[in-house]
Amino acid sequence: MGGNTPCVEIEANGHLIILDGGTGLIHLGNDLVRRQRENGGKPIHAVILFSHTHHDHTQGVPYFTPAYIPTSTFYIFGPRMFHEQVNEALRRSMLPPNFPIELDDLRSMRIVRDLHEAESLWLLPEQPEPMIRNIYREGPLDVDDVVRIDVLKSYGHPQEGVYIYKISYRGHSIVYATDTEGYIGGDRRLIQFSRGADVLIHDAQYTQAEYLDPVVSKQGWGHSTPEMAIEVAQAAQVKRLYLFHHDPSHDDETLFEIEAEAQKLFPNTYLAREGLDITIL
Ligand SMILES: [Zn+2]
Ligand SMILES: [Zn+2]
Repeated sequence: MGGNTPCVEIEANGHLIILDGGTGLIHLGNDLVRRQRENGGKPIHAVILFSHTHHDHTQGVPYFTPAYIPTSTFYIFGPRMFHEQVNEALRRSMLPPNFPIELDDLRSMRIVRDLHEAESLWLLPEQPEPMIRNIYREGPLDVDDVVRIDVLKSYGHPQEGVYIYKISYRGHSIVYATDTEGYIGGDRRLIQFSRGADVLIHDAQYTQAEYLDPVVSKQGWGHSTPEMAIEVAQAAQVKRLYLFHHDPSHDDETLFEIEAEAQKLFPNTYLAREGLDITIL
């Protein structure tokens, strides 16, 4: 399935949204530069959303080529206190002697901001900078053709939880729920948040046997089993479920077995895999 750590690219109405900056971001960056070359050098703008700042979700950032191009602009969001955390996390990965360039030396524009759970982002047509609104105080934005990003804080990951994101456009939606651990009866808040989504990308790092291992149980480690992901997918009536954040010790053969078992419970379950491209219409 490829050995990269989390990074998902979403394109909606011409906007580029990047979920997490694991090593998959390195390949995405190279591809964005290739696309820029092909389209006559149009500047790269992207909204980058971090679920949290653990190393496997930020380690691609120092090698993200578009960040070295002065015309690039990135609107970077993450959990509360994130600003301090991400700078800290990125700085550490980019300090000499570990890395020859420091974070502040990157030539692109970066706007970094904490996102509150009550806030949502709105991407208007042809406008790269997202509008931020408190949905409880200001209500939703009534504009045609807007891409909306909502946030749900999950407490199921050590130590400070993670952000789960929902990207909606023209009645369709994708939910990105990585690094989260399930609950008995399903994560009720996540079920509510994901209701009717076209795609649910859900953590499924451990098999049930690993989760319940009598010697090293994975309970409380902040990851789910495929069964936990399926419970959410079924209750929320999502159309497709993608099992995500595969365990590095699982080879492709093991993953295909996991996929086959999962499909018995929820037929529209698939493995997230390197370079997988899906279109939602
Ligand atoms: Zn983590
Ligand atoms: Zn992770």
